[in-house]
Formats: sequence, structure tokens, C-alpha cells
Amino acid sequence: MKQLNSFLGLMAITALSMVSCTSPKGDAGDDTFEYANERFADLQMLRYKVEGFEDLTLNQKLLIYYLSEAAMYGRDILYDQNGKYNLRIRKALETVYQSDSVDRNSDNFKELEIYLKRVWFSNGIHHHYAMDKLEPDFSECWFREQWAKCASPELQQQIDLDEICKVMFDFTVMHKRVNLSEGKDLILTSANNYYDGVNQEEAERFYEQQRAAWDDQDRPGMFGMNSRLVKLPSGEIVEKRWTASTLYGEAITKIIACLKQAREYAEDNEQRGVIDKLIEFYETGDLATFDEYSIAWVENTGSMVDFVNGFIECYGDPLGLKCSWESIVNFKNIEATKRTERLSQNAQWFEDNSPTDPQFKKQDVKGISAKVITAAMLGGDLFPSTAIGINLPNSNWIRKEHGSKSVTIANLTQAYNKAASDGLRNEFCFSRREIELLNDYSDLTDDIHTDLHECLGHGSGKMMPGVGEESLKAYAMTIEEARADLFALYYLADPKMVELDMMPNKKAYEAEYYEYMMNGLMTQLVRIRPGMNIEESHMRNRALIARWCLEKGEKDKTVLLVNRDGKTYVRINDYKKLRNLFGELLAEVQRIRSTGDYNAAKALVENYGVKVDPVLHREVLDRYEKLDLAPYKGFINPVYTLVKDDKGNITDVTVDYTESYADQMLRYSREYSTLPLVNN
Ligand SMILES: [Zn+2]
Repeated sequence: MKQLNSFLGLMAITALSMVSCTSPKGDAGDDTFEYANERFADLQMLRYKVEGFEDLTLNQKLLIYYLSEAAMYGRDILYDQNGKYNLRIRKALETVYQSDSVDRNSDNFKELEIYLKRVWFSNGIHHHYAMDKLEPDFSECWFREQWAKCASPELQQQIDLDEICKVMFDFTVMHKRVNLSEGKDLILTSANNYYDGVNQEEAERFYEQQRAAWDDQDRPGMFGMNSRLVKLPSGEIVEKRWTASTLYGEAITKIIACLKQAREYAEDNEQRGVIDKLIEFYETGDLATFDEYSIAWVENTGSMVDFVNGFIECYGDPLGLKCSWESIVNFKNIEATKRTERLSQNAQWFEDNSPTDPQFKKQDVKGISAKVITAAMLGGDLFPSTAIGINLPNSNWIRKEHGSKSVTIANLTQAYNKAASDGLRNEFCFSRREIELLNDYSDLTDDIHTDLHECLGHGSGKMMPGVGEESLKAYAMTIEEARADLFALYYLADPKMVELDMMPNKKAYEAEYYEYMMNGLMTQLVRIRPGMNIEESHMRNRALIARWCLEKGEKDKTVLLVNRDGKTYVRINDYKKLRNLFGELLAEVQRIRSTGDYNAAKALVENYGVKVDPVLHREVLDRYEKLDLAPYKGFINPVYTLVKDDKGNITDVTVDYTESYADQMLRYSREYSTLPLVNN
């Protein structure tokens, strides 16, 4: 039931050009900010502009500064969560990369540089999105030679080169970070570092027991969220918690220290209370404390500055229990927030009028606080690849009783769009009509899609009594994302949206429909290597929706894949009928989730969301390659600096955007590396 990343995948590849509410159309000409930065492998680096930072009060700036420091200190945790050799491999690569003795003009060095940049991007050796192991194109032999020349004796002691070379170069070892393929032991076949020595059945049994032993069955904790599950030599299975005094304690202690500094500049007592609860959770690892923190956080809506810091999202664990470390520091975009407030004020209307079965609807939709924010710092699993919308907390009972906070991160979408090119649209749209439709409206409709997905989609519907969050297992995340997307798609076409003055006319939604179908059926395949299946949950969800509608709409020719001059295109003949199909599927997906119908979830995902048509795939890859675009994008963070007067008093905080990607990553490794190379 994770709520992140609603649209990132789509955004990152469809070359959108949304204009956020803070930058109305027309100002693009005098925007000299350089959004696009370097490119390598399948990645494009971007910068985001922290517009409005200068206008904040000194207190707010300092709050952001110290929360940003806290956002940096968790970086090593994520590397270690993603794989037990990641910190050692990063250290070895950085050592060779910075060595004076290495020939920087050699091909091997250039390939090492690309590989290292990819490892930084993925926070480990597996592709951040595809989950499979990155292939080094430098020779192992060359690498060993360089290492022998430049690594200090201490480092050579600490790092067993044979071991890490095997992990890097041998593709039979740890080849997939998260395996979601049915039929295999999902834990034993995943290379993440969340489980040690336990298999899937043992882990599932362990957490079933925890669940059963919990006092308040209506308010279950987030079992397993902050620990590694380990089988001891004795055969006993125990959790190694991530707290200030246990596993990852070195990093967590630093995070706490920064939070304590930030606390001094909290906007009010309520926000101070949120920070205190988080510190308490980091110290104790107690799940009930985490719930208390989440409630305090979700109820703290008045503050200008806000942040996420901790173990949040579970995409990295095939069982969806273990949460990766992440952070985002942000402040409210007041103008644009008025838009999402209009949606949340009408939340009950949307719930009541959705095409789902009345028994699965919420009678009383609880405070969905929706705002548009400006990201000021990204860390952990939100960096460099990031989300453009977030809806938290993830605990279902807290969402039901206390609501959730939903955000659209406008300055990141703005950066994607400013850096985008028109190539993809021109190549894959069926005709001039669709290109113009997208040019005219997709800026806006993408934004509204994200708002609907995050503010309303994830928050809608309810579970039937006795249905647990774990019932859909490996399919839960795909089904949940499909539900939120379908909710958004269905309502984009609703006259209510024009009535609420969110959509300019009754046709604009067609831009989103076309773009969504084109992406789900074709263009998102550029992120999949030939012969591979779709693995990532958001991609599965988009394929599922698009292909299901293609199949169900076949007899009426609602949506078709047509061939023209040897190229395949998506053709939508009837947008109204397509809306009905979205509504139909929304009702079914809501039923699956509300009743925990595992078999139906499995059938839907396996039949529509996983497999790739190899012929169409090849065609899409070939056409895409000719466009020379990078399928994935991520960000370089700004740098904040304290300004002091001669007496040492802090007078201001400045923001700078000139640090290069490699310099930033090396600096983070230097200044914020807190964990030992081996964490057991
Ligand atoms: Zn989502």
C-alpha cells in the first residue's frame, strides 16, 4: 500500500512540459536556470530550482538547513539496505576513481566513471528502476591492478577484493535486487539486505505471529518496517532493529543530532512535537511510537516547512514490509496549494460518485490534506531519482482515522518539463491532432492527474472487515497504484472538474488519456531490456490498465494499436467509451483490494501487467534509440551555506546550484559517511 512515485515513470519519459502554478505560461523565456545537466548511460541529471527560498524567514531557512543535514546522514543506510556489499563497492570504486596513479584517459577509467555514476544514482549496484545488476564495462583485471596500486593497507584489509569483484562481475550472483516473479522464493532470489538466512515462508510466519500478538488488532503496527530479519546460528529468527543504539546506529545518531538542531527552529510547538516523536522512535525503534509520530506528522498541517525523514517506503522488499530510508525537506507553495485544496474540499463528492460498489466506499472521507510543495532537499530513496507526488503515512488505520498528507512536488515536475524535448511525442503520437492535444493540455492534465491520484485516489475506498493489508502479497503495490491511477483517469473526464474550474474545457482530459495509453502500451517499454518482463509496480500498473482497456475495447474499436508504414501507433476512437472502461476497471480493482481477492489480483497483474510483446518491444526500442533521449532522470541537490557575521551569528542561509554531480556524490561520501563498511 505504498503511495509514492505516482507518475514519475511516465513523467520521466514522456517529455512533458507542464507549467506549475508558480510559473505561469509565458515566463519560460526569461528563465535562465539550467535544468538539464550531464548525461550518461540511460540517465539524465537535472537540477531543481528552490524558488521562494530567499523569501522565507531566517528561522524557516535554518529549519530547512538542519533538516537537510538530517536528510544527508541516512544515505549510507539506504546503500546497505539495497545490498550488503554496496558500501564496500562504493568505497573501492571511489578510491580508484580519485587515485592519482590511475590513467584518467584510459577507456577502462572512463567506463569505471560511468559505472560509479550509475552506482551513485542507484544507491547500490542494481538498477534503481529495473532492479537488475548494473554491468561494469571496465575489465576486472584492470580494476584489480588499480586497486593494488592505490588502496591503503588498512583499506585492503577492510575490503576483500575477491569478494566484491565476484559480486560486481559475476552475473550469477545477486543478479536482482527485488524479485517479484511468482513461483520462486521471493526473499532468497532478491539481493536486498533486509533478510539474512531466512526464506519467504519463515519471514511470512514470523510476521504473522507478530501480527497475531499485537494488542489492538484494529490498529496494527507497521510490522517489520525498521529491522533486518536474521536467522541466528542457533536457528532462532530475530529482528535486528535499526535504531540509535543498534544496527545503523552510527547514522541514526547523526540524524538525531541534526533533528535536535532543527527542533530549535521549529515553527511552533506542534511541529516541535513531531520532531520529538521522530527522535524518540529513532532511539527506541518502537512501532507504537512510530504510529504516534505518524499521527502527529499527519495532523501538523499548518507549518510552512515540512519534511519526511525515516523508514518509509517498502518497494525494495518483495514482501512489502521492510522500509527503505528516505528524506525530503520542503516548504509550501501557497498559490498552487489552492488548487489541491479545492479537490480535498470536495473529497466526499468524489467518493460518493465513483463507479465502485457502495459497500467499498468510505462514508466519511477523513481529512485528506493536500498541498503543493517546493522540494528543498532530497535524500535516501528519494535521491537522485525521485517522486513528484507523495501520500503518507502508509499505515491504513492511521489513514482511516487521521487522514493522510498528500503532496504534489511542483518544482521537480517543473524541472522535468523544462528539460524535456518534443522528440518522443513527435515520434509516437498517431497524428498531428494528438501532438497538438498533448502540447496544449498535457502540462495541466498531468498535474491534475497527480493531484487526483495522490489527494483522492489513494485515500478513497475501504477494506472489508477482517481483510488485512497483506492479503494481496506481491501484487498489492501494483493493485494499489492501479486503483489511484484509475481514480484519477476516471475523474479527469468528469464535468465536475470543469465546474470546479480545474480543467479548462470538456476536451482537455483527452490529452491525458492519449498519453496514458501511449505510455502503458508502448513508450514505457523503453525502460525494459529486450527479453525482460515488467517488474516495477508502477510500470506494471500502467501496462495493466492500458492493456486491459485495449482488450476490452477491441470489439467497439474504442482503442486500437494500428500499423502505418511499419510503425505501430495508439489510436483512440472513442474517449467517452474509454472513460467507461477506466470506470469499470476501477470498480473491479477496488473490489479486489477491499475484499483481498488474491487470485483476481494475480490474474489481472500476470495477464496484463507483466509480459512484454517482444516484436512491439523491439520496435519501440529501435524508434526510441534514434531519438537519442535518456529514459531515466534524477536530480543534483542544491547546496545550502550558513552566512555568519564577524561575531559568528548566523545571518542568512544561501542556496547554490553549481556543484557538479560527481563532486556532490564524493562530498556526500566524505562528509556524511557514517556507517562501517560492513553492517551485521
Ligand atoms: Zn501512488
